[in-house]
Amino acid sequence: MLKEVLKQIEQRNRFVLTSHARPDGDAIGSALACCAILRAMGKEAEVILSDGVPRIYQSLPFADRAIHAERIDGDYDAAIILECDSIQRTRLEGFENQFVINIDHHLSGRPFGNVNWIDPNAVATAEMVYRIAREAGIAISAEIATCLYTGVLTDTGSFVFEGTNERTFALARELVLAGADPAQCARNVYFGHSTAKMRLLGTALSHLEREDSLAWFWITQEEMERFNAKEEDCEGLVNYALSIYDVQVAILLRELPDGRIRVSLRSKGEVNVALAAERFGGGGHECASGCSLDGPLPDALSRILALFRPSPSIQ
Ligand code: 5GP
Repeated sequence: MLKEVLKQIEQRNRFVLTSHARPDGDAIGSALACCAILRAMGKEAEVILSDGVPRIYQSLPFADRAIHAERIDGDYDAAIILECDSIQRTRLEGFENQFVINIDHHLSGRPFGNVNWIDPNAVATAEMVYRIAREAGIAISAEIATCLYTGVLTDTGSFVFEGTNERTFALARELVLAGADPAQCARNVYFGHSTAKMRLLGTALSHLEREDSLAWFWITQEEMERFNAKEEDCEGLVNYALSIYDVQVAILLRELPDGRIRVSLRSKGEVNVALAAERFGGGGHECASGCSLDGPLPDALSRILALFRPSPSIQ
């Protein structure tokens, strides 16, 4: 399928690249790197995202080139959608008449494009973008390596999630040899948080509840407003509950301004939380998934907890 993707790219000239709303390190890193690779192939390419680049990724090479918009309006030969299991996940409009190339590594990946390359064995979409560059014979510059390394670093949870294996470290080695600075990438991602995020973390953890190997907590819209927190300030908070020694599944619920509830699920591996998210129209990976439910918050919490208690119904 890699060869087919490359063939379709080679036949075209003008590309728009995008990824999912609330972009994470893999969404941003793989889109920016893929854009740079296409340009190195002599193509015209630009990145459009429905949300701005979060502050911890703003120092990535080419991050200032990413366009923040609600729709793709340009005259493109193809749209490359990275890290998404549906067009809706981009939260962008305007794909109706586009030739869509779908590149994703999610277990819940779906063939919504004209060409679909879905590889759940890849630890990050950045790994797949790296393979495009290699197949196309494009040299990995230090800038491209930095974007790809950041994608791999963040989507493997700093090389700790299931699926991290010798290929992951071999890829990291290649990227470091190509010029990615692992200490700088880690500093940007892990020591670049806002004060609002830390205040939010404190409040969220004060709500922590436990039941057997389950832990859950929440953030209300009032708390978001009180700390002047942004959506991106919620990224990664769920991992603090998962870090408790006897927790197998951690759940973070967050009230949205429209009253719906955003749910982040994390597992240490015994329970497949992608199945739980899929029950509510979401998706993701076995160990990291998400979905949205109708409010109010206590109702959403009951519906989610019902999946895991009294004995886990999702294994
Ligand atoms: P997070 O909890 O960080 O929002 O998401 C964790 C993982 O689940 C990510 O890989 C993300 O792409 C996936 N995910 C989160 N929310 C959704 C959703 O609503 N639909 C789908 N299909 N995947 C989601």
